[in-house]
Amino acid sequence: MAWLRMYSAGNGDCFLIEHGLTSVLVDGGYSSTFQRHVLPDLRDLADRGQALDLVVATHIDADHIAGLVRLLAQNGSADLPDIVGVRRVWHNSLRSLVPPSSQSTGMSEGDEELLQEIRRRGYAQAAGDNSPEAEISALQGSSLASLLRTGGFNWNDSDGARPIAAPDHLRLSAEVNLTVLGPTPERLSGLRDWWIGELRRTGVAGVINSRPALEDAFEFLCSYESERVSRKEEEISGRRDTGLELADVYEPDDSVINASSITFILELGNRRVLFLGDAWAEDCQAALGTMRHAAIPVVFDAIKVSHHGSRRNTSPGLLRLVDSPRFLVSTNGERHNHPDIEVLKALVDRPAPFAREMYFNSTTPASRALRSHRSKSGTGFTVYEDYQNRIEIP
Ligand SMILES: [Zn+2]
Repeated sequence: MAWLRMYSAGNGDCFLIEHGLTSVLVDGGYSSTFQRHVLPDLRDLADRGQALDLVVATHIDADHIAGLVRLLAQNGSADLPDIVGVRRVWHNSLRSLVPPSSQSTGMSEGDEELLQEIRRRGYAQAAGDNSPEAEISALQGSSLASLLRTGGFNWNDSDGARPIAAPDHLRLSAEVNLTVLGPTPERLSGLRDWWIGELRRTGVAGVINSRPALEDAFEFLCSYESERVSRKEEEISGRRDTGLELADVYEPDDSVINASSITFILELGNRRVLFLGDAWAEDCQAALGTMRHAAIPVVFDAIKVSHHGSRRNTSPGLLRLVDSPRFLVSTNGERHNHPDIEVLKALVDRPAPFAREMYFNSTTPASRALRSHRSKSGTGFTVYEDYQNRIEIP
């Protein structure tokens, strides 16, 4: 049996997947997500004598990463976990993108002060989360990279010095395999170059390497960028006429942070689940296009819709390539007007030989609007709102 749980994660993502004795945690939502929803399940997992075989931080954004920071801060080191064993972590941080060095060559006193200032600010504060009490301690000071390094974790199959990128493959058990679709090495270079530009803009002029102060600054600056992009998106989305089609409103995402999302196919026995993080639709198309052998879409057993159902991350072209009887949309819609109704309609309007189940972990204006929508092709669909139970993948 395979099942997954889509936790209530504010405007973010957090999924636990189990198949037999193997379990994978994909993103951690906010630290309150971890505290309220994930922690009890992890304790239960540990009570059954199991560990997390893999934890994936898809990309550096507070609504995906903060809960994982909380998990590692509270769980302790890889060898002596307080809550649950963590066997492997995937996380592309600075260390994975530039050569490591313990030297602070070329950093002036002014540079060091600027880095200290960035570290004091920590991750972008979780504005989509209603429980600030949990956030502060977990978010300030420790990047995920520093927790992984000091905790001695199996990080990207070694010490984090290489990135997870397409076409990596990981075999977790005889039945559970992951095939990485993204990011490409080009997207990771793009992220590194963008970040170096950001760091220069703050005034830091010294040599860039991956020593701890810079690793922290990398993650904290990345988290601020995604907050800024989201605000821009929210402004545009709120002013729109919603009687339009996806083809009318689709506009490619331009966030380099989202483009760095780790996307993958998770094989659970003979089932396949597609996890798209917050990735760009064009990158998903490029990766998935080669899988299709006829003019019909590749059918997955479930698809985690990219970027909380944003119209900037699901294109008409992508929907020609993939389909599924189960779609997972994770967001409470509070901050970015996600998901976009045009995406949801496009998902259910296509003809298919199966009915679709549309899972939402909250109720949003768009999920409500989908309830009263009629599929153009007449293909049946069921809307599940506020869905917190296990989703069985039969
Ligand atoms: Zn996100």
